[in-house]
Amino acid sequence: MHTVRIPKIINFGKNALSETQFPKNALVVTTAPPEVSSKWLAKMKITDYMLYDKVEPEPSIETVNKVMSEYKSKNPSAIIGLGGGSSLDVAKYSGAELKIPKILIPTTFGTGAEMTTYCVLKFEGKKKLLQDERFLADVAVVDSYFMEGTPEAIVKNSVCDACAQATEGYDSKKGNDLTRMMCKSAFEVLYDAIVNNKPENYPFGSMLSGIGFGNASTTLGHALSYVFSNEGVPHGYSLSSCTTVAHRFNKSIFYEKFKEVMEKLKFDRLTLKAPIDQAADIVMTDRGHLDPNPVPVTKEDVMHLLKDIVDGRL
Ligand SMILES: [Zn+2]
Repeated sequence: MHTVRIPKIINFGKNALSETQFPKNALVVTTAPPEVSSKWLAKMKITDYMLYDKVEPEPSIETVNKVMSEYKSKNPSAIIGLGGGSSLDVAKYSGAELKIPKILIPTTFGTGAEMTTYCVLKFEGKKKLLQDERFLADVAVVDSYFMEGTPEAIVKNSVCDACAQATEGYDSKKGNDLTRMMCKSAFEVLYDAIVNNKPENYPFGSMLSGIGFGNASTTLGHALSYVFSNEGVPHGYSLSSCTTVAHRFNKSIFYEKFKEVMEKLKFDRLTLKAPIDQAADIVMTDRGHLDPNPVPVTKEDVMHLLKDIVDGRL
């Protein structure tokens, strides 16, 4: 048997934001400053709401606890996560704890977080990836309206993440016919959007990717990327090379096309400060990504791949 979990309602496409009905007395959580969020809230045509706009990037469990203690007594009817991954993660966790509906509205597109059961929060200063059915959105609203005004580097890194997640998700041993269908379609949408300059289609591609990989997993590309993330490289950027070499190693059907879109997006070569041997040891501990990889991976393989990445042999 296979199980696939997706939000109860997915509102997407043109005008999804303005045509979605939001419940009264909902709590909106966001990282965005008032001058940005006021524009978004006006577009949502939401009037009766509470706003918590002090979510920090890479939020911690303390932020979640603060939101809950501050608003629990006000009986919010729902929690609306409005923003990037950070806002969505706080809404997912708080909504699950408060047992109120979660409405997730991503304003950057790549992680597909609005579709998944994942939640990333910091506990005692350390980022932790949690997964629970309770984190799934009741309503996800995906609207490319937010694309305008997003800095280009963020758009580029985010779409790279979506491409990596779709293609690694397709190859994952945890996948099934339905997740593979979603992942394949996701990459087709994203490939077409990148090659033919249609960024307005990134949100749809990223959404499909979220449904696909979110019910399977990512694999070797993501495992390799964390040693670069640890040195401050943005997640999407580190995947540009890591997923490319991983696809070559796995003989993935996506290798050529993935490489082609990465070249089109123009990413610089990555550098690594940590010694290759040490970095490979760290990668090898990431069983969550390595075990579902379609091909078994040894430490030697990882060392070769990391060397290929820093030498630009993609
Ligand atoms: Zn990712």
